[in-house]
Amino acid sequence: MTRRGLHEDRGEPETIEMNSKEQMTALVLHGVGDLRLEKVDIPQPGPGQVQIAVKKVGICMSDVHYYKHGRIGDFVVDCPMTMGHESSGVVAAVGEGVDHLQVGDRVAIEPGIPCRRCAKCKGGRYNLCSKMKFCATPPVHGSMSTYFVHDADFCFKLPSHVSLEEAALLEPLAVAVHAVQRGRVTAGDKVIVSGAGPIGLVSLLVAKANGASAVVVTDIDDRRLAKAKELGAWGVANVMGLDAQAAAKAANAAFGEDFDCSEGQAQAVIECSGTEIGARTAIHAADSGGTVVLVGMGKPEFTLPILEAEIREVDIRGVFRYVNAYPVAVNLLAGGQLNVKPLITHRFHINDAVKAFDTVGGGQDVIKVLIDCEL
Ligand SMILES: [Zn+2]
Ligand SMILES: [Zn+2]
Repeated sequence: MTRRGLHEDRGEPETIEMNSKEQMTALVLHGVGDLRLEKVDIPQPGPGQVQIAVKKVGICMSDVHYYKHGRIGDFVVDCPMTMGHESSGVVAAVGEGVDHLQVGDRVAIEPGIPCRRCAKCKGGRYNLCSKMKFCATPPVHGSMSTYFVHDADFCFKLPSHVSLEEAALLEPLAVAVHAVQRGRVTAGDKVIVSGAGPIGLVSLLVAKANGASAVVVTDIDDRRLAKAKELGAWGVANVMGLDAQAAAKAANAAFGEDFDCSEGQAQAVIECSGTEIGARTAIHAADSGGTVVLVGMGKPEFTLPILEAEIREVDIRGVFRYVNAYPVAVNLLAGGQLNVKPLITHRFHINDAVKAFDTVGGGQDVIKVLIDCEL
């Protein structure tokens, strides 16, 4: 099997050099519902790259979406693709010119490599680079394999007390760091998080770490809301069956009497459900002059109460992945400002990875499923 490298457009070889005798295990998606554990050649690091012995990989809903539907929007799985983009591991080999990492270093892998040359990259918003090569987004291979090769400057050394399991959660944590920054959450803010899935829950943690005085989490499932409470939500609201205005009212009411209505509504609403009703609710729920960030992805078009946003100056801001958020997320874990361990609910060995994929989305008690890639 030919392994496609990340850097074909930079004049580097089409395939990563490899020793054909040495093979490793990879979880490869061939099409809808067709996941296979395969033996593939071990990739070797080129200049500026490191080879990582992959340890823990989280399963993301995007992985599951590719598995079940074979595509997300214009990204179509039309050739075999290794899954996974939420990974940690140990540096196993170092390419030429890499001086900040050594063999044996424990690292988290930021899964997207931008072109570094366009106006977006130069302007510091590399997440918007149109040439981004992102792990397990077709046709780029992901990291759910025994070894993985990646640009060294997108690998982040872990503090000694941060485990490889926690490090696999740095990817969703980075999404939350970016979402909270886009939501301009600062000390004393009231924040609503819509949707208590993995991204909603890490957004709750990061909003609190950013100084939010109270975070209310909304969802339609009581078990998920109980988890949000456990993770430190000030209040929760089950918005099942409510229209957007009623849901907004219920969310703000959950701040309770300690937060007088005269102070206004939530200064920031982080919408992680990806639903139309969630986005509609977010606009109603935000304080005048507040911010709504759209993190969850759903239908390409929604009907929104846009006049409401206009006359109350509610800013609606998009969120796409993250930019320069890994170092922040690593420091949040290093400093103990938040704890992601309670999010890990299931663990599978890579040999049982297909079962793991069937587990995600199989029940509300599933939050984050980790794959152990160590053989
Ligand atoms: Zn993810
Ligand atoms: Zn670029």
